[in-house]
Amino acid sequence: MRLTKKMLASFFSIAILFSFVSITHAEVLEVLVDNGASSPAALSTKCSPVEDFSEELQTKIQNIKDTFLSLPNGAGLAATQVGYTDRFFVISQEAEGELIYEEKKLKRKPGQPLVFINPRIIEESGNQIGWESCFSLPGYIYKTERPLNITIEASDENDNKFTFKTTGFWAKCICHENDHLDGILCKAKALEPREAPEDE
Ligand SMILES: [Zn+2]
Repeated sequence: MRLTKKMLASFFSIAILFSFVSITHAEVLEVLVDNGASSPAALSTKCSPVEDFSEELQTKIQNIKDTFLSLPNGAGLAATQVGYTDRFFVISQEAEGELIYEEKKLKRKPGQPLVFINPRIIEESGNQIGWESCFSLPGYIYKTERPLNITIEASDENDNKFTFKTTGFWAKCICHENDHLDGILCKAKALEPREAPEDE
């Protein structure tokens, strides 16, 4: 998911992301794009649960992080968007919320994108209607309805289990990324026809 000016108008508190500086790494992957006429198969693939926290998985996680960090105004990026079918996504290091590890002594690492492996939304409440966009659907934004508050459980890259409780924009972002793992793009949830963003 990426941020646009229109979305920022609704979610002023995340304006700080516009000061985000892109970093280029060697392992930046191509983000797959559904251009309306054709869509790569990976974008509609339901991901398989991660069972082995192998070296191969660590490489994939690093590649997704590097790809994410190379993107302008990034809020999150899911495995399917770079052609992986493992059940994980990342969201921005700027994401606001309460992260609690099952192993209480573990703490969130500042300045690092959050990795959600085998995520599961365990609580949701309220609803919000607003705009969202996606790196795999460039040039358009979509009006959707999402829960206002969510709690999600997942594992980090070291298979440490945690819960993350968040609200507003970040709840929407996590729902968006979680949908990617079931092969669902936000355009499938659009309440109205897509709209070209003002800042493109
Ligand atoms: Zn997306």
